[in-house]
Amino acid sequence: MTLEIDRITKSFDGDAAVLNEVSLTVKDGEFLALLGPSGSGKTTLLNLIAGLTKPDGGTLRLDGDDITTRPAGARRFGMVFQSYALFRHMTVADNIGFGLRVLKGKDRPTKPARRARVAELLDLIEMPDLGDRYPAQLSGGQQQRVAMARALAISPRLLLLDEPFSALDAQVRRNLRGSVRDLQQKVGVTAILVTHDQAEAFEIADRVAVMNGGIIEQVGTPADLAERPSSDFVRDFIGAA
Ligand code: ADP
Repeated sequence: MTLEIDRITKSFDGDAAVLNEVSLTVKDGEFLALLGPSGSGKTTLLNLIAGLTKPDGGTLRLDGDDITTRPAGARRFGMVFQSYALFRHMTVADNIGFGLRVLKGKDRPTKPARRARVAELLDLIEMPDLGDRYPAQLSGGQQQRVAMARALAISPRLLLLDEPFSALDAQVRRNLRGSVRDLQQKVGVTAILVTHDQAEAFEIADRVAVMNGGIIEQVGTPADLAERPSSDFVRDFIGAA
């Protein structure tokens, strides 16, 4: 689906704007990274997209529908956020099926359909035999793949990823970049990744939006940004990483 972010503004408690008329279109099936230093507004923008925070001004449209005030629970977005860790007391299979069990009304699949969907996701993350394990019995990389499967189980309209690799060591992070990208491509979902890591953004994303002080400095493919940075900030930030 196509997400249109149209002049979104946000401040907290009357302070200076954390987001200042941010506009950006994320195309259907695209993997877009929001890249920038700490405090540049990336997480605030992702939380607004998720519906966890309300903007002071501006509009969010999904395939043309205004979703600016739609509650988070009604957006049907898949999220892999640091704050949504796996449920430790649930098996891997129950974690993956969680979002399906809490769907409402006609959207909620029957028990056999849920079981089949969980098996499909376990295959997709190449962990077909690990459904009965508990998160503590998995490696950090495996836990992250389960988190991806849990987010994808509901066939989300958008996939939102907030620094999904930050707790993992460098080698595991690098391996996971490829598998996250592969999963997104297989499913064909539009995805938005928040990261402060230039190498991560450049390896995973089709396009990268560089944020600085509540605005988007430049949006482009990794090659665009590397070859034609539009400002000193973009050149320095990309060069510095
Ligand atoms: P990033 O994800 O790029 O590190 P954030 O979106 O987390 O940036 O934060 C941008 C700015 O907004 C920071 O100055 C931060 O202190 C401020 N901020 C974020 N959330 C809140 C909040 N709930 N209340 C007050 N200030 C906030």
